[in-house]
Amino acid sequence: MNWEWRQRGSLTFLTLPGWEELGVKAAFTTRHGGFSTGPFTSLNLGLHVGDDPEPVMANRELVGRSLGFGLDRMVCCEQVHGREVAVVDSRHAGRGACSLDDVLMGCDAMVTDCPNLFLTAFFADCYPLYFFDPAKRVIALAHSGWKGTALRIAEATLKVMTSEFDCRIKDIRVFIGPGIGPECFEIDAQRKSQVEGLFTFRDEIIYSYNENRSVWDLELTNRLILKESGIPEENIGSCRLCTSCNQDQFFSYRASGGRTGRMAAVLGLLE
Ligand SMILES: [Zn+2]
Repeated sequence: MNWEWRQRGSLTFLTLPGWEELGVKAAFTTRHGGFSTGPFTSLNLGLHVGDDPEPVMANRELVGRSLGFGLDRMVCCEQVHGREVAVVDSRHAGRGACSLDDVLMGCDAMVTDCPNLFLTAFFADCYPLYFFDPAKRVIALAHSGWKGTALRIAEATLKVMTSEFDCRIKDIRVFIGPGIGPECFEIDAQRKSQVEGLFTFRDEIIYSYNENRSVWDLELTNRLILKESGIPEENIGSCRLCTSCNQDQFFSYRASGGRTGRMAAVLGLLE
C-alpha cells in the first residue's frame, strides 16, 4: 500500500494514491503551511489545545479548500481515548467542524458509506487508522493512542463495519498513519505489566532495554489487533513515520511537553 507526499499551494499532506484511484480521499497534514503562532506554529487544526480559534479556523478552511471540500462536509468526534464508534451519515455533515460544542460526543472512531462526507480527527502522537472496504464502499477513521490501542479501538471499528454495513473482513484495507514510534514511546513498569496482561502477543510489542527502560510499539500492536480480527496482512499498510522523531515536520505531544498543535487525518468517499 503506497503512500506519498503531495503539495497543494502552501499545504503538504500525506496521501494514498491507490485509494484515490478508487474514489477515496485520504490525507494526513504536517505542522507547516498555516496561520497559528507560538507552540502551535503553524498548521494547528485542534480547537481544544489552547490556541486562538481564529487561526485554527483559517487552518481548517485551508485544509478543506486544498483537499476539495467545505467545512460543512467535515465531521469530527470528541476523541476521548475510548472505544465508541459513531455511525455517520449526511445528517452529521458539519458536526464539530467549526466548534467543539457539536462534535460527536464520546466517540473515537467514525464509519460511513456516505459520499462527500469528510471524517476528520486530530493527532499529535496518537495513531490515525484509516479503513476502506472497496467492495461495499465503506470508510472509517479511528483515533488510536495508547489507551485506544489497549481498548482495541481498531477491533471495535471493524465490528461496526461488519455488523452495520455488511463488510467482509477480508475486503477491508487499513492504513496506519504517522504516530509516536516504538523507540520514543517509553513506558514505566506499571504500564508495562498492564499492557502485558492485555495481549497474547505481548513479547512482540514491548522491548525492554533494562529493568527501568521499556518501550511499547503501538503501531505493531494495532497491526496485530487487525490481523487477529482477520484482516489479511497484505491489506494493512503503514508509513512508519514517528511524530516524536520528526518534530520538524509534525506536532508531538510527548516531545513538546504537552503544549502543542494537532495534525488532521481526513478520510472521505468521493461522489
Ligand atoms: Zn521516534
